[in-house]
Amino acid sequence: MPAESRQQVTAKRATARVFFALWPSAESAGELGQIAREAAARFGGRATRPESIHLTLAFLGNVPEARLPALLAVAAAVSAEAFTLSINRLDFWAHNHLLWAGCSAPPAQLAELVSTLCEALRVAGFKTGRAGGEFSPHVSLVRRVPAGAVSSADCPLPVGTLRWPCSRFVLVRSQLSATGSNYRIIGEFPLAGESRG
Ligand code: ATP
Ligand code: MG
Repeated sequence: MPAESRQQVTAKRATARVFFALWPSAESAGELGQIAREAAARFGGRATRPESIHLTLAFLGNVPEARLPALLAVAAAVSAEAFTLSINRLDFWAHNHLLWAGCSAPPAQLAELVSTLCEALRVAGFKTGRAGGEFSPHVSLVRRVPAGAVSSADCPLPVGTLRWPCSRFVLVRSQLSATGSNYRIIGEFPLAGESRG
C-alpha cells in the first residue's frame, strides 16, 4: 500500500479516549489533593494528583478522532444551569478499591446536566459508559487502596465542607499510562447563571 493511503487508513482508525467532567479550580484541586495524599499515606494506594482531580459526568471511551468535532458540537449545544457542589464526605468502594469524595446532597442541577448531556450524546449516536446504570457523582481521591485498609466508609470530609462552584463543564482526553492517566482538556462549555468561580 502506498505510504499516503497507509497514513489515511491510520488517521481513520485513530481514536481518543474521552470523557466529560467538572474540573475544580486550582484552589479546590489543591485542597482535595492534600486530602488524597493524607488518605493514601494512612491507608495505602495511589493518591490522585491535584491536576488530575475531577468529577466525571459521562464517559465515552474510545471515539474516532474524526468524530471529535461532532462531539464538541453536541456539548456546545447543551444548555444547563451553573451550580455549586458542597463536597462534604469521603466514601469508599470496596469493589474497585477506590476512596472518593462526594456530596451528601448533590444539587438537582448536576443530575439535570448529566441527563441533558447524555440524552444529547445518545441522539447524536454517541454511547456513554454504564448505560442504564445510575450516575454516582464522585471525585476519585485514592485508587488501589489495599483490601481491608479502610474500615469505616462514609465519613465527613476532614476539612468540613468544600465549596466547588461549577460554571462550566469540559471534554477531556485521557492518555493511559503505567503511572496513572494523564488528562488534557480539549473543550470547555459554559453553564448558565450563578457567579463564575
Ligand atoms: P486509571 O484508569 O489509570 O485508574 P482513570 O480511571 O481516572 O485512571 P480513565 O480510565 O481514562 O482514567 O477514566 C477517565 C474517567 O472516566 C475517570 O473518572 C473514570 O472513573 C471514568 N470512567 C472510566 N471508565 C468508565 C466507565 N466504563 N463508565 C463510567 N465512567 C468511567
Ligand atoms: Mg480507568
